[in-house]
Amino acid sequence: MSAHIVKVLDSFYVTHDVKCFVVEKPAGYDFIPGQATEVSINLPEWKNQMRPFTFTCLRSKEYLEFIIKIYPDHKGVTNMLSRINAGAELIINDTFGTLQYKGPGVFIAGGSGITPFIAIFRDLYKNKHLKGNKLIYSNKTSGDVILGDELRKMLKENFINLFTREKVIGYLGRRIDRNYLIENIIDFNQNFYVCGTSEFVKSITIYLIDLGVNPDSLIIEE
Ligand SMILES: Cc1cc2nc3c(=O)[nH]c(=O)nc-3n(C[C@H](O)[C@H](O)[C@H](O)COP(=O)(O)OP(=O)(O)OC[C@H]3O[C@@H](n4cnc5c(N)ncnc54)[C@H](O)[C@@H]3O)c2cc1C
Repeated sequence: MSAHIVKVLDSFYVTHDVKCFVVEKPAGYDFIPGQATEVSINLPEWKNQMRPFTFTCLRSKEYLEFIIKIYPDHKGVTNMLSRINAGAELIINDTFGTLQYKGPGVFIAGGSGITPFIAIFRDLYKNKHLKGNKLIYSNKTSGDVILGDELRKMLKENFINLFTREKVIGYLGRRIDRNYLIENIIDFNQNFYVCGTSEFVKSITIYLIDLGVNPDSLIIEE
């Protein structure tokens, strides 16, 4: 495994608990949109604590970007990342990941599970190939939506927001369940990309298979 020490160039919050990190890109380093790497903080007591995070920038950029949800209660790596800013160093490793674009379909994301889709959508948008894709994005509240303006600009009417703990005029206040999928998806004979917590991915994939989706058309991180 090849580890690279990279400097944090910039960091800023994109929601109340989600922080974006722009970091140096090692020479020759490359990834496929949707892939992730193990990241640790280059401090003596933290450098062996690796956690997986997904690249969110375009692969053509001269930097790397991660969008990371901070969990203060865990007292783990993300809590420490809340205190990491420009000038600090991270350690990144080899790229990995099975969640890659395989053609137009429906993307279903929960919370910070949007990160691989951000990389995929940015790439498709830049290359004018985003048409025919739809995003159903579930969050607790409107304040938890990551990069909502950019997603709307890219996907337009094919960006659907669902809030599980909030009823906002013009948005749907409900969970993604079997009935939601029956009512809102016309064609189950297409690709479905699902990313979120393991419970989220498990429940949605069970509904989709039950509704006739071909397991080969289900794209999830394995
Ligand atoms: C392939 C992949 C890609 C990912 N990409 C991203 C990404 O781009 N952005 C992103 O935000 N996340 C991403 N994740 C999730 C991310 O890796 C985790 O959120 C991160 O590892 C959490 O690290 P942590 O050290 O803060 O907490 P943890 O490793 O979850 O926990 C640290 C400590 O807290 C304890 N703990 C665990 N759960 C709780 C709890 N609910 N309450 C209290 N304590 C708890 C644990 O026992 C442990 O001791 C990805 C995950 C995978 C598998």
